Order: sequence, then structure tokens, then C-alpha cells
Amino acid sequence: MAELDKTRTEVDVPGDWTYASAPESRDIVRIADSYGYYVGGEWLEPAETYETIAPRDEEPLAAIGQATAEDVGRAVVAAREAFADGWSALPGSERAKYLFRIARILQERSREFAVLESLNGGKPIKESRDVDIPLAAAHFFYYAGWADKLEYAFPNRRPRPVGVAGQIIPWNFPLLMLAWKIAPALACGNTVVLKPAETTPLTALLFCDVLRQAELPAGVVNIVTGDGRTGAAIVEHEDIDKIAFTGSTEVGKAIQRHVAGTGKRLTLELGGKAANIVFDDAALDQAVEGIVNGIYFNQGHVCCAGSRLFVQESIYEPLVAKLERRLTTLRVGDPLDKNTDVGAINSAAQLEKIQELVASGVEEGAEIYQPPCVLPEKGYWFVPTVFTNVAQSYRIAQEEIFGPVLSVLTFRTPEEAVEKANNTPYGLSAGVWTEKGSRILWMAQRLRAGVVWANTFNRFDPGSPFGGYKESGFGREGGRHGLEPYLRFDE
Ligand code: NDP
Repeated sequence: MAELDKTRTEVDVPGDWTYASAPESRDIVRIADSYGYYVGGEWLEPAETYETIAPRDEEPLAAIGQATAEDVGRAVVAAREAFADGWSALPGSERAKYLFRIARILQERSREFAVLESLNGGKPIKESRDVDIPLAAAHFFYYAGWADKLEYAFPNRRPRPVGVAGQIIPWNFPLLMLAWKIAPALACGNTVVLKPAETTPLTALLFCDVLRQAELPAGVVNIVTGDGRTGAAIVEHEDIDKIAFTGSTEVGKAIQRHVAGTGKRLTLELGGKAANIVFDDAALDQAVEGIVNGIYFNQGHVCCAGSRLFVQESIYEPLVAKLERRLTTLRVGDPLDKNTDVGAINSAAQLEKIQELVASGVEEGAEIYQPPCVLPEKGYWFVPTVFTNVAQSYRIAQEEIFGPVLSVLTFRTPEEAVEKANNTPYGLSAGVWTEKGSRILWMAQRLRAGVVWANTFNRFDPGSPFGGYKESGFGREGGRHGLEPYLRFDE
């Protein structure tokens, strides 16, 4: 002991544990001043452009082309030629090689994509780095594996490609949604015209460089940018065989009306208002983490977000107390800071929508909790919010908020939980927290939701199909099911 005392030196213990940020460098990303459209393997100059910005501080990032119906027409011609010129007839094993290459290049350039995704979309870098980009690469790997096995996936049905696919994607998972759309289409031998969302075009445009590196034949993938008018031009184009859309239920319905009677194939992945259901025998601390991941992941800009929390009455108070305490530890701020849990809201329009719905919740009588939080001065931000005292009829319990806002409701019996959970026009996903396996299966059979997570939430895997019921759309993406919309069968 005396020996130890002699050698002990004084160590300065910091008294001030002030937070220090850990910003990811953006040097790895090179953004051009302006971008055209990637058509037939070349860049077309746009006649009209708009500015894309960084939602964290409204910094202008680049001028982006606003594609007209004529521009979309050129892209469709390029896609049709590539389809007829050999892509559709290429052996599956050859198509697979291109998909593998794309997947490998995405992995190699993952940091660049992650930084750009967070800069343009506002999501925390730890999410784009650990979720979006690895999953996008995984999708290409997964569908590369199917490309030469279509006959085995659909025995005796002679699977053939559909033709030219028009694909319209949203702003919440820009590169990942692109991968969900392009990978199965190409694996099945189709060619593609894709439009990224107006606010988040940059990773789709960087992806064109990946296509060039992978030496994908010209015209197999064409990217046109612009707002809803460009999307509408894709939907209306007569030489497109299949439309794949992910976005709002409102636009999805309009597309369905337009496509009706044209013979075009259609898959729609639309909104959601998922129930996350916690029984009194659940592991509460794990459930709290799952609830937080369910609704605050990607600022709640998630179609399958667990935005309605149903808590069994007997554990309501301790669970809400734990949840509110956990909220005080969430770090809201710069998406490029590696410590950030909740980043910037994607756009001014989305922020306005969230604010309006939150105000309606207060007005209708729900009790609001927001942790103390210092928000950056510039950019679009919203404090993670929990509403208690929520009635099922309130707008915050009915409408998709698409922001970091949770509505808490209660139930007593499993039957009541099912009835309340299904009381929504949507049916995309649900979560069940309980230690009883039999109860999980009982619930999963009764919940009208395309995906039911058990003791977890917001987990995605390319091998697992994803899609909805009711106003959440139809058709499945991912897994073997995700091939079917891109194939026709000569039976
Ligand atoms: P939209 O449905 O408008 O956007 C989805 C995609 O469709 C975008 O690429 C969009 O282009 C395009 N688009 C818009 N209008 C048309 C049209 N008439 N024909 C064809 N394509 C069109 O969603 P918003 O971005 O306006 O978001 C509104 C709400 O939708 C959100 O608050 C959220 O509730 C919900 N939403 C749901 C998503 C989901 O994954 N389920 C994803 C995104 C939004 P552009 O970006 O230029 O408008």
C-alpha cells in the first residue's frame, strides 16, 4: 500500500464536462455548381433549374435541373433502346455482375455518400453511415443474387422482364429508396427512368457516377430531376410499362387514378401511422429504446414510424416517465456531428406541416412534453415531442405527421390493443413488446399491417418484403416478393 501511495500522481479530473462536437469532414464530397439529367449514359443540359439546399443551415448546394415532359421523353427513349438493344436479353448471370459491381462501389464510396446524404437531407451522419448506405449496398448485393435464379424463384412460370420502369421516390431515404427501386428492376432485366425527390437529388446524381464506374450499358438507368411536374410526366408517359411510387397517400391516389385503364403496372408504397404496442410484461428499458428508435429515427420522416404508442394501462406511468427521461438525453443538432441523434427537418414545408399538426394536438386537448433543447438558429428544426392524454379521434392520432412527434394512448386487454391499433386508414407496420411468444403470434395474426416487429422496431433487411395494406399502398419491395412487380409471366 505504501508502495502504491508513493507512485500515485495527481490526475486532473475535469470539473466541466461541456459537450464537444465530433463533426464529420465534408471534404470527401465534391458538389458541382449545377447538374443536368443522366440520360443514355450522358449528361443533358437543363433549360430550367432550381436550387437544392442543406436543411441544417439553408446553405445553397447546387442548381438542379427541372425536367420537362420532353426531357422525360428523351429518358424513356434511351431506356427503351437499352431494353431492346440487349439489356433484357442479357443472361441473368451477366446482369448480376453489374449489380455486384454497383454494390461494391457503393461500399467503397460509402463515406462520400453518407456525408452527401446527411448534408442534402438533414439526417444524422450516424444513420446515413450505419443504416442508409450499407442497406442500399446490401440491396444491390441481394438482388444480384436473384438475377440468374428467376426461373427458380418462379418455377414453371417463365419469368420475363416487364420493360421500362418509371420510378418516383421520396426525400426521407433518398439513396436507399433508389436502391429499393433500381436493384430489383435491373435484376429482372428491365430498364429504368427514376426521379429523386425535389429536395434531395444529390445522392441520386452521385449514383450516376457509380453507374459510369460500373460500366453499366448506356440507357439502362436514366435519372431525371425536378418537382412533382416531372413525376407526373413519368406517370403520364405512354411508353412506360410500370410505375413504382413511394410517397404520400394523396399523390399515390392521384397516380392510381391516372394509371387506371392504361395497362401500366403499378406498385404504391404510401404513408403510415404505425402502432407500437407495449404490454406490461415487456422489458421496459428495451421497449423505451425501441420506442425512441421507432419515432425519432430519421426525425420521424419514416413511413413505417411507430408514431402511435399503445401502452398497457398498468405500466403507463413508469413507461412514460422513463420515456420522457430518455428524451432529455437525445442530442438534436448538426446532422454532420457524429453524436447527433436527431437531425434537421428536411424542408421548410415539412416543418410547417409538423408545426401545424402539433398545434392541433395542443388545441384538441392533448398534453405536450418537449425536453429542454437548444436548437441551432439557422435551418429547420423540431424538438422531439411526446403527446399524452391523446384520444383516438385527435388529428395527431389519425394523420401522418412525418416528424419527431409521438402520440401515447393506452389499452387494457390484447383485444382492445388490436382494435385500437387497426383503427387507422393505414396499414404499413406495427410493433409488439412482450415476453410471451404466443402473444406476439396472436397479435401478428390480427394486426392489419404489412410488417410486424416483435421486441424491436424499424429493422430492415433486403431479404424481407416490405409494403402495406389499405391506404399504405400495395405491392411488396424486398425479398423474393420484390421481384414479382418487375416480371411478367407467360403461363
Ligand atoms: P410526395 O408524395 O409529394 O412526394 C413523393 C415523390 O412524388 C416526390 O418525388 C415528388 O416530387 C413526387 N410527386 C409529387 N407530385 C407528384 C405527381 N403529381 N405525380 C407524380 N409524382 C409526384 O410527398 P411530399 O414530399 O410532398 O411529402 C408530403 C407528405 O407525404 C409528407 O408530409 C409525408 O406525410 C408523406 N410522405 C410519405 C412518404 C412515405 O415514404 N410514405 C415519403 C414522403 C412523404 P417532389 O419531391 O418534387 O415533390
